[in-house]
Amino acid sequence: MVKVNDVVGEIQGFVRLKCQKEIGRLTYEFPRNADFYVSFRELTKYSLKLSDYLYDNFEEFSQDCVSALKDEARGISWNDTLRKNDRDPPEVVVRVVEVTRERKKPIRSLRSVDLYKFVSVEGIVRKVSEIRSEVVSATYFCRGCNRTIKIDQRHNDALVKPERCPECGVGKSYLVEKKSKHEYNDIQRLVIQETPEGLGGGQQPKQMDVRLEGGLVGDITAGNRVVVNGVVVPIQTQKKGKVNAATIDGNTIEKEEDDYSDLTVSIDEETEFKALSKLPNLVDLIVDSISPSIYGHRDVKLGFSCALFGGVAKDLGDGTRIRGDSHILACGDAGIAKSKMMKTVSNICPRSVYASGKSSSGVGLTATVVRDEMDGRWTLEAGAAVLADGGVLILDELDKMNEDDRSAMHQVMEDQEITINKAGVNATLKTRCGVIAACNPKTGRFSDYDALSDQLDLPPSLISRFDLVYAIRDIPETKMDENIANHILSRGNEIKTDNLLSPDTLRKYIAYSKRINPVMDEATGKLLGEYYVSIREKSKERVTITPRQLEGLVRLSESFARMRLSETVTPVDVNNAIRLFDGCMRNVAFDSDSNSFDIDKLVTKNSGKGRELSRVIGDLINSQEGGMKRDYVIATLNTRGITPESVNKMVDKMLNESVLYEPKRGLLRVM
Ligand SMILES: [Zn+2]
Repeated sequence: MVKVNDVVGEIQGFVRLKCQKEIGRLTYEFPRNADFYVSFRELTKYSLKLSDYLYDNFEEFSQDCVSALKDEARGISWNDTLRKNDRDPPEVVVRVVEVTRERKKPIRSLRSVDLYKFVSVEGIVRKVSEIRSEVVSATYFCRGCNRTIKIDQRHNDALVKPERCPECGVGKSYLVEKKSKHEYNDIQRLVIQETPEGLGGGQQPKQMDVRLEGGLVGDITAGNRVVVNGVVVPIQTQKKGKVNAATIDGNTIEKEEDDYSDLTVSIDEETEFKALSKLPNLVDLIVDSISPSIYGHRDVKLGFSCALFGGVAKDLGDGTRIRGDSHILACGDAGIAKSKMMKTVSNICPRSVYASGKSSSGVGLTATVVRDEMDGRWTLEAGAAVLADGGVLILDELDKMNEDDRSAMHQVMEDQEITINKAGVNATLKTRCGVIAACNPKTGRFSDYDALSDQLDLPPSLISRFDLVYAIRDIPETKMDENIANHILSRGNEIKTDNLLSPDTLRKYIAYSKRINPVMDEATGKLLGEYYVSIREKSKERVTITPRQLEGLVRLSESFARMRLSETVTPVDVNNAIRLFDGCMRNVAFDSDSNSFDIDKLVTKNSGKGRELSRVIGDLINSQEGGMKRDYVIATLNTRGITPESVNKMVDKMLNESVLYEPKRGLLRVM
């Protein structure tokens, strides 16, 4: 334990020797500004002992600091300043800035021993309350002794009137509240929660209340990443129990930039990453390292990899911004381990937030304005997409979203921000994140004969926001099944992961790659342009590809360059992107006429025209002499995963076009 005399002397020394610049500023700005900033970094350099003292005894440290300041800053007239207004001059507040990284504490580690201690915690702002004016100090007039009594109210949730006069001891009926003499201050409450990257797999983020006062209010919004420095204090609730909730009385709050600059990479790691980036089989290695316990689906895993690394956002200068994040949609038959894959992906993704469309409605995928249960104020609460700002939103069961979330998803994905206008709360929140989403086909299984857009319970406009759409079919194939069976059997014993990247390494490598913003030169860009034109030319009437897909291709190319930690996008990256995109599109939007794909098949309802379906219906009817009953056609095709609805529609159409005819009611024959 430090002796008090030592401390006072040391604080005086620190203020005299290290704070002259700050004293100069305060001399100039006081009393308009009464904040005295102390650099924690400087303090630690000056005396490690003193920096410990600050953490354990912040109140005393502040008082000693202010006395030392008053001794030192002779240019400031501390008392006379605001006399004219019949008010006391503002009290100097010591504000601690530049807190060193080692001092930060995880929210989950805060305990009773931290009460009244100074702490630094890092988190994402989950909730922000309205700004309110609050009584910070109440004034009472005592009719017993004619004195004025001030009672600090900062940590009470309701105004607390003293039981008796602290000066003369008369009972509280002698004390008269003087509302006009109360001191008011702007206050705002936040709830911060642990950042996703600070959590181990599957851990639920812990939350903490923060109270901001005066100049600190109004600057923070939901979704911001912040470091809060302040003192942990118990909240005095009206029910005077022994159990207290705690809040952090914010002393300073710093917004963090979303540029991954806080990532610390050792020299060894840097060397390792550079070596990795030069491996000829790097892309394969990354793909194999994603969900190694799930066999196959390498094309889907490659798409996910691109979203994890991401492209480069571009500011066009006129206020328009093109997103750099790729959005990937994986639709799959029920039997596929999609959810599991999504969860493992969220484990290797720095700053990912996992949400399910089914369960997100309570919290909101985007943001909601709710009445705070504690003090009844309107509070802006960030949903998953806002919390994922700067990272990736992993969204399972996209098709189960509620209507509100669904319509907001367009803005989330394209504009990468959402505006909230409710109950007097107006805010624009950033959602600059890639979206990796999964959904099921309406009937549980994919049919090869209907257009994908008809099989998904999603608006086509939303589907068109995805750069890559995968239809994962659970096709029984003997060879494949054997491989899967072997893979599952080997699980638990050992999966050969020796040569793979560990989730930790991969996560860090991805975060490290974000420092690089690859640039595509004109010649390389031309390759993409040529591909684009060639697809457009294949079909004169239909829209086979749109500028939106071209932007998507640029992003994919950039993410391939990022995987290699390359500053430039090369033709190899572009070809990788084209191969990935083309393969994916042929799978979900194949058009047999042009032997290519038609984006319309993906993003327009009922556009598939069902050429394949009409052929299947024709073949089926022809397989039986004398024609086939309509009901039988419907039932047979239903077992093959084609809905009665679409068969009926197609049969009507074929009858209309005289491809089929009905020799007898209900009997179908091919012309
Ligand atoms: Zn009194």
